Amino acid sequence: MNLHLTIHRGTRQIGGVCIEIEHPDGNRLVLDAGRPLDAPDGATGLLPQTLDRSRPATVLISHPHQDHWGLAEQLPAGWPIWTGSASAKLIAITGDVRRNPLTRSFQTWNSRSHPFAIGPFTVTPILTDHSAFDAYMLLVEGAGKRILYTGDFRRHGRKSVVIDRMMASPPAQIDVLITERTNLGSDKPVTTEADLERDFVGLFERTKGRVFVSWSGQNVDRTVTLYRAAKRTRRTLVIDLYTADVLDRISNGTRLPRAGFPNLKVVVTRGLREFYRRIGRDDFVARMVPHGLPARPLAHCHHVIMLRRGLLADYQRAGLIPTAEDAFNYSMWRGYLSEQYHAEPLEWCRAGGAEIAYIHTSGHASPADLRAFAAAIRPSVTVPVHGVKWDEEQRGFGSIRRLADAEPMAIP
Ligand SMILES: [Zn+2]
Ligand SMILES: [Zn+2]
Repeated sequence: MNLHLTIHRGTRQIGGVCIEIEHPDGNRLVLDAGRPLDAPDGATGLLPQTLDRSRPATVLISHPHQDHWGLAEQLPAGWPIWTGSASAKLIAITGDVRRNPLTRSFQTWNSRSHPFAIGPFTVTPILTDHSAFDAYMLLVEGAGKRILYTGDFRRHGRKSVVIDRMMASPPAQIDVLITERTNLGSDKPVTTEADLERDFVGLFERTKGRVFVSWSGQNVDRTVTLYRAAKRTRRTLVIDLYTADVLDRISNGTRLPRAGFPNLKVVVTRGLREFYRRIGRDDFVARMVPHGLPARPLAHCHHVIMLRRGLLADYQRAGLIPTAEDAFNYSMWRGYLSEQYHAEPLEWCRAGGAEIAYIHTSGHASPADLRAFAAAIRPSVTVPVHGVKWDEEQRGFGSIRRLADAEPMAIP
């Protein structure tokens, strides 16, 4: 009697991941319920049709990126959903800012790799290195077999040591490695966060005026990198209320920077203050105000200032005008710049004559690290997901089983 693995979605795209593991006794786990990255806003009915919703299942969410959890609300109400405890908070923030608060509650595991039982399965979440905070690989054992799902990972972020450790002392006898391959076939730069910190220090040192930076408030590694570079150059990092909210919810008991830290200020803008008032969180803004500043003083300062389109109108009203003494750095995937939302802040800075920089590194492992990881884990077979270039790039991964979406695989 075999375990059965079915990848309902994700064998031929990046994101939208949905993986089912069925025990011979009929118990089922679903790893990730991701929203396809190309799904239009507000679209419903996106769960893969091949995922049988008439029988119970338990869902495990690897990390708080929407291409892994974005369909959680559409899962049958009786299916329990598990994720990391900080992940659950970050997922809740995304619901709040979309004014679509989550109706589902999540059960949470702790971050220390303790195995726990779900029916006949034993699940071990393994904290991993990724651009999402609180991201996990998932080791699933059942019917005498062991499956390791990497979720999304990299080996060059602030938690790279956890991948190095895992490669030095890999989990025993993995029958199936389900691995992400986002960067396969690409030549995206994968410098380390430590290298980025050095590059930001260089940018902050050579810039006479302000440095505007666009990055994702949920990319906590990047916030830490920017904060450390600001401190090293005696600048102040100015974050918006949303990023302050992210840090406020997850930083308890950690060394993460947050409101109240030296060299860190929260800009209290009218738009976001209004937003938090409307969702009934005046108390949060009130707590931030003592560590904050209004937008107006940013017109004359030498700070490192978070910039995105949603802040532009407030900044302009406060008299901020980029000049040739300022710099702008875009610290997200360059592909987003084809969208007006991402391009507008850059163009605003360029129009003022600011230096335009691109200091960024991928949230996903390089092709060389993907191969080194697979070689260290030595699975009996590798099943690729979350990528588009597997067929051209099979060399160096040992035995590969290339599944189609919804094609069941018996694990021998
Ligand atoms: Zn992903
Ligand atoms: Zn991710």
